[in-house]
Amino acid sequence: VLAHGKGIFHTDDILALADRGYIDLDMVGELAQCWLGVPLRVGDEAIGLVVVQSYVARDDYGPADEELLTFVASQIANSLNRRRAALIQQQALEQLEHRVEERTRELRHEILERERIQQQLEHEVMHDALTGLPNRGYLRERLERVLGLLRRDPHRKCALLYLDIDRFKVINDSLGHLAGDGFLKEVARRLHECLREPDLVARIAGDEFAVLLEDVPEADDAVRVAQRVMDALAQPLVIAGKEIEPSASIGIAIADADYRLADELLHDADVALYRAKAQGRKRFELFDASLQKHAVDVLALERELRVALAEGQFVAYFQPILRLDSGRVVGHEALIRWRHPSRGLIGPGDFLKVAEDSGYIEAIDWWMFEHSCESAARHLPADSYLTLNVSPLHFRRPDLCERLLQMLRRTGLAPARLVIEVTEGSLLDDPDGVRDVLARLRDAGVGAALDDFGTGYSSLSYLHTFPLRLVKIDRSFVARLGEAGAANSQAVVSSILALARALGIEALAEGIETEAQREILLAMGCVLAQGYLLGRPAPIEAWIGPGKG
Ligand code: C2E
Ligand code: MG
Ligand code: MG
Repeated sequence: VLAHGKGIFHTDDILALADRGYIDLDMVGELAQCWLGVPLRVGDEAIGLVVVQSYVARDDYGPADEELLTFVASQIANSLNRRRAALIQQQALEQLEHRVEERTRELRHEILERERIQQQLEHEVMHDALTGLPNRGYLRERLERVLGLLRRDPHRKCALLYLDIDRFKVINDSLGHLAGDGFLKEVARRLHECLREPDLVARIAGDEFAVLLEDVPEADDAVRVAQRVMDALAQPLVIAGKEIEPSASIGIAIADADYRLADELLHDADVALYRAKAQGRKRFELFDASLQKHAVDVLALERELRVALAEGQFVAYFQPILRLDSGRVVGHEALIRWRHPSRGLIGPGDFLKVAEDSGYIEAIDWWMFEHSCESAARHLPADSYLTLNVSPLHFRRPDLCERLLQMLRRTGLAPARLVIEVTEGSLLDDPDGVRDVLARLRDAGVGAALDDFGTGYSSLSYLHTFPLRLVKIDRSFVARLGEAGAANSQAVVSSILALARALGIEALAEGIETEAQREILLAMGCVLAQGYLLGRPAPIEAWIGPGKG
């Protein structure tokens, strides 16, 4: 039937088919007397058969039955076909839905990913990579917004704290950049921890941070935060095996509705910071209008420094260096002063940084070197020496040694009467180069002193690899001697003294102000000293003995 279309078969035909192997009689059961089949056609394809069979002998199917069954088969085929098509359609629809869902999921993922990247970029633009803190750009944006709020509410004030980490360069140079980075991260963490939303901590640059306090009813509130920040920073911390006690100088500016620009506030806080550093670091200063008048307008100060140099406004002061046991003066340190035409006598703390940053320090120093050597050669006892503070910048010059020796010849000061004072920072900048310069100077008779020892992080045994004649113990240790709870300072000073003795370096205590300090140091075996108690810095005339000059 499948091969030829419709067909009618009787029992004999079925047996004949079985004989030819078309039918397996075991599977058929009782044989029909008469059998009629028509194919189920869908299009050109036969997808099955419709069959009727009779087991009654007198029934016989004829063409009419065949026609009827063909009609029935076509109805069945149609409806099967419809169902099949519906099924296929349904499946196709499901597949489509599935794909749409999948694609939606993909897109959603892509969108999220894009948003994440966008956010990350925005974060990166507005944050500092090392510490994760907001950066200067972020701070300025926030500042502008807060200043906008102040304009709408004239009673409101905000404060900006500008922080500079003290002596970060020394940490970085002596312990390495990795340690320096670790140190900054820890500082950032501490700052972040001691403040609350909506107050903001930002890293402005290198070792500079800022804290924005959005709402400060009184200046005292900002001062209290500054104090808290300093306390939080001061906890000792171990970096690269060294214990460090971080500290910062802080400039505070308070803003009211009068401030228009974020930069104005940043500038004022910076001016206060400059002041805090000049006053000796580890402290804060509040910006006020008088600071503005005192013009730490750097550009103006640079201009004034140039005029000062051209018009001879600098003066060399001298402070005696004594033996503690006999009180004999063995030398003098030359300290610069500026006779400012309108501001009076100014100490180096107020202009040295600008002089260094602008490079004028070199010319200023050479002026000082020349004048103080000349004065010393002419007026100070021939058995005493002169010490000069040499700014780190000079060590970048290849001819420093020759120039100093030439100057000595010119001024008539014997090389053996000169000691140059250098800081740990200068030594570490280019250790080999500096060691070489100091060695050549020593060969010519000029000594070297390590100034402000104890404020940096290098050990004396390392610094001993430089040809040093003298180490000057920083006055911050001396200041604490004789106070209650000074055991720590006393231990530091006595170990410096012991080590210096062992290394054959002379030790000098700076900044002796009280009789008690003098006695303690004398008892500890400190030989040399300097300080207001023993003699304040003064112009050369003060030190010219009778019959001299
Ligand atoms: P320094 O070399 O450590 O000088 C010692 C400073 O301590 C001087 O401050 C001196 O006046 C002060 N001083 C001395 N005895 C006492 C005391 O008993 N108590 C207190 N509180 N202070 C005392 P000054 O003259 O203000 O100099 C500050 C720093 O400026 C110096 O520190 C030095 O590093 C630098 N400096 C001074 N003159 C020059 C210079 O001509 N060239 C360069 N490059 N730097 C200079
Ligand atoms: Mg000095
Ligand atoms: Mg010193």
